[in-house]
Amino acid sequence: MFEYAPAPESRSVVDLKPSYGLFIDGKFVDPADGGSSKSINPASEEVLAEVAEAGTPDVERAVRAARKAYDKVWGPMPGRDRAKYLYRIARLIQERSRELAVLESLDNGKPIRESRDVDLPLVAAHFFYYAGWADKLEHAGFGGNPQPIGVAAQVIPWNFPLLMLAWKIAPALAAGNTVVLKPAETTPLTALLFAEICQQADLPAGVVNILTGAGDTGRALVEHPGVDKVAFTGSTEVGRAIARSIAGTRKKLTLELGGKAANIVFDDAPIDQAVEGIVNGIFFNQGHVCCAGSRLLVQENVADRVLESLKRRMAQLRVGDPLDKNTDVGAINSAAQLERIRELSDAGSAEGAERWSPPCELPDRGFWFAPTIFTGVTQAHRIAREEIFGPVLSVLTFRTPAEAVEKANNTPYGLSAGIWTDKGSRILWMADRLRAGVVWANTFNKFDPTSPFGGYKESGYGREGGRHGLEGYLNV
Ligand code: NAD
Repeated sequence: MFEYAPAPESRSVVDLKPSYGLFIDGKFVDPADGGSSKSINPASEEVLAEVAEAGTPDVERAVRAARKAYDKVWGPMPGRDRAKYLYRIARLIQERSRELAVLESLDNGKPIRESRDVDLPLVAAHFFYYAGWADKLEHAGFGGNPQPIGVAAQVIPWNFPLLMLAWKIAPALAAGNTVVLKPAETTPLTALLFAEICQQADLPAGVVNILTGAGDTGRALVEHPGVDKVAFTGSTEVGRAIARSIAGTRKKLTLELGGKAANIVFDDAPIDQAVEGIVNGIFFNQGHVCCAGSRLLVQENVADRVLESLKRRMAQLRVGDPLDKNTDVGAINSAAQLERIRELSDAGSAEGAERWSPPCELPDRGFWFAPTIFTGVTQAHRIAREEIFGPVLSVLTFRTPAEAVEKANNTPYGLSAGIWTDKGSRILWMADRLRAGVVWANTFNKFDPTSPFGGYKESGYGREGGRHGLEGYLNV
């Protein structure tokens, strides 16, 4: 293999401050009890900034600010005027997209090629899309004259920090709600830059509030009695705890949780394209993707061919500096996540599956895990059942379409699935039987703001994106 010259994106476009406060009522303020934590670059372990930790008094202030903004400004504002703010935010995101993409890669560890070409275009597209709905809610198909719910508490994970923010904030504001959002503790920086964009867009104070902090901040926020709606994306375990804590209250809830998607390859599939889809399905964003195709189900008679081709392709993946434009696989987001990936992978070997990674040199500092596949996996193995949330693929085989469906559905999750075949009739037959919220055919990990996304079973309930995404933010 020939050597590439490094092609790093400049980070000079990002103006990092040494410390950040909370964004409440249109201003950056210090937390009441002065708590803070450090956000680090997972590719180098460099401290990027000191970030405030919101406590109960800060949650109180933020919810009060959101309520006031809802009652006095945002709730009564005509939809066409709310739309103008959302369009303005969307355009500012486009204008500042390079800065946002570099900051996202620094704080999260994802390759700049992905933050620049996938995350940021989708973030802007979500704001543009929902801006278009703001003055047309009565035509969204819910009947009558749908009304906003009030104050939304939104808690998001670290795998797509800015994109998850967009999925949450854009429909909430379009529908006339105000929000208090808590980003994940390891990736707060782009949410704080988004807060600056809200100021730049002259968004009325209190419509968007950003509280940084860890699980305790999230818990205090979702349990606050002044909140009308809770929207959570994250692990199934925390989702369950939230559902329990707000049971019996008037709060509306949507949950987007974990997944263990099957990517199913039939013997008539175009193998080269399927291999690209397998790689995209599990190594995109280091596999930190709730809908990642982490179980490859391949038809037995083509398994050897597919695996040989997959291994050849995996050997071409470039793992390393997230800011390098050649990089395919970046850093694992945190030491804790790396530990979880290692633990589950070691369990895979201990349970008898065969582990393979291409030769690849990993940097000395930071958190890294080589792209890995396990063959000889059975359905009883932990790596086939539990979400790994990392660049690790479990390979199983099947003989008939019915067996593929049975194996694909044999999971407590139900977020997504992929089918690779030449036959349209088989795609429809399979899609009818797969218990997954999203089924991709001859492609994988395709997202669009017009298309609803969400799960079955332990992957959660409610939909984000599309017209359906408005429903969780309206009294219909
Ligand atoms: P996590 O559940 O640990 O944390 C998610 C968020 O919840 C963080 O902001 C965290 O601070 C907060 N939190 C933690 N404990 C809380 C509590 N008791 N109350 C309120 N908030 C609390 O998940 P994670 O490790 O950050 O993210 C990975 C998980 O997210 C994976 O399981 C993945 O599948 C899932 N995910 C799902 C989707 C989807 O759309 N279905 C999208 C992205 C990620």
